[in-house]
Amino acid sequence: MENPSASSNFIKNIVMEDLKSGKVDYILTRFPPEPNGYLHIGHAKSICLNFELADEFNGKTNLRFDDTNPVKEDTEYVEAIKEDVAWLGFEWDGLFFASNYFEEMYNRAVLLIKKGLAFVDDQSADEIRNTRGTLTQPGQNSPHRDRTVEENLDLFERMRKGEFKDGEKVLRAKIDMSSPNINLRDPVIYRIAHVTHHNTGDKWCIYPMYAFAHPLEDAIEGVTHSICTLEFEDQRPFYDWVVSECEMEHQPKQYEFARLNITNTVMSKRFLKQLVDENIVDGWDDPRMPTISGLRRKGYTPESIRNFVRETGVAKSYSVADERMLEYFIREDLKLKAPRTMAVLRPLKVVITNYPEDQVEMLDAEINPENPDMGVRQIPFSREIYIEQDDFMENPPNKYFRLFPGNEVRLKNAYFIKCNDFIKDAEGNVVEIHCTYDPETKSGSGFTGRKVKGTIHWVDAKHALPAEFHLFEPLILDEEKGDSDNFMEHINPNSLEIVHGFVEPNMKEAQPQDKFQLFRHGYFNIDPKLTKGDKLVYNRIVSLKSSFEL
Ligand code: ATP
Ligand code: MG
Repeated sequence: MENPSASSNFIKNIVMEDLKSGKVDYILTRFPPEPNGYLHIGHAKSICLNFELADEFNGKTNLRFDDTNPVKEDTEYVEAIKEDVAWLGFEWDGLFFASNYFEEMYNRAVLLIKKGLAFVDDQSADEIRNTRGTLTQPGQNSPHRDRTVEENLDLFERMRKGEFKDGEKVLRAKIDMSSPNINLRDPVIYRIAHVTHHNTGDKWCIYPMYAFAHPLEDAIEGVTHSICTLEFEDQRPFYDWVVSECEMEHQPKQYEFARLNITNTVMSKRFLKQLVDENIVDGWDDPRMPTISGLRRKGYTPESIRNFVRETGVAKSYSVADERMLEYFIREDLKLKAPRTMAVLRPLKVVITNYPEDQVEMLDAEINPENPDMGVRQIPFSREIYIEQDDFMENPPNKYFRLFPGNEVRLKNAYFIKCNDFIKDAEGNVVEIHCTYDPETKSGSGFTGRKVKGTIHWVDAKHALPAEFHLFEPLILDEEKGDSDNFMEHINPNSLEIVHGFVEPNMKEAQPQDKFQLFRHGYFNIDPKLTKGDKLVYNRIVSLKSSFEL
């Protein structure tokens, strides 16, 4: 089994020190997705980090929906997120919604007003932005900054009652317009939005801003270590200001790590949503998507994803992981688990002219040579079989060891066959090969009479089941363009290739999400959405070989 605690990271060291020094006497982390899209593999990194960290120190982890922006949020996303976290193998302790804390957040904002630390501003969003200053220049105080406490309390209450239109007023923290940290220049903490919320309906028409809400959520739940990605580093002083000035009983601490990026991969919900909305892909769970549901549908296992994100480490500086590293981990995981089978993706018929017309024999084949305990399967063999089109060449180059006129090859698990003739259609395409087989050469018979250089796979023409194969290439062509705004210009037009071929008849029993190693083609997953009735659809998870080594 995997051992999550084997490797160390700087956040783990902080946790250990905090426990040792008595700064905390329990560990509570949280995974706080905003339900505005499906989870992607970057989120998986945060999920593993939070759950495994708590687990290691007998702590707990909450799943909390950070649903403070009603415009983009939806219950469909809430359900999908729960499914994905559970599928990854984690059990949350509390299941919470930030929106359930709206009343408490409102009361804390009122407390800030009473302390003279928040004020209602009538300026527009543009005016507020334009008076914020820059990195080198201080901002300007709002003309409404010196409103009395009474006036602010009255206006804030009337904001809540719905007396003002969207954008007409905001509540701002009153900190310091000349702070070198722009996040402390009187940040907006409440805004008006007359929008129905997926959880609270029409109860509220003012909503807390993320930077104000998040520390309160952590504090309310008693989170000890609030782990987020590096872009929130500059928010930390405001995080601390909020928990302290709102006089929260529990004072959580924020720690930042570098987000996961992967080559050739779009990894931002906004971009992923665009791919879905513009029908570039077949939904959030399209196997080309780096979403958890897409990776699951492609055939990735929870173990392979967990091992991958663990291997990428927990760092303080930006880096991009090689997508081939993810592929490495699924190969490793499936090597001993996935049954081997033969499938022909681009079929070419072969007639074995000296094989009796009505005869069918059953041949034994190992289910997984690397894991003999998996046993043996039986495959039918008769006079007509299919091989891959590119396993035959009329005029082969040097060192081509597969079928060509006059050459003999081994049929995997069966006999040697020799090509004697072939038939072409009117366009000159080879449509049928004629071979003879040698009964002496049966696989497993111990035949040593002569050797052949090529081994090819095949399926029996009469018994094989038709199947569709989906072969993938990266969705984004340029390695580095995955997360730039113009990623749409780098979409790979050939990211999905669909071919029609045949599989062994025992695939009749295969269930959606079953995984196989198709001899010479790679690891495949039975697509759970498109496989219906007699229709079998295989998604290629990964090919067999890679230049990538860990
Ligand atoms: P995106 O930028 O993709 O929309 P997000 O940060 O807005 O993601 P949230 O739902 O707010 O998405 O994220 C939930 C948690 O997952 C946050 O703690 C966030 O820091 C973390 N997270 C998001 N993306 C990554 C990533 N690429 N690597 C590691 N953690 C991530
Ligand atoms: Mg976000």
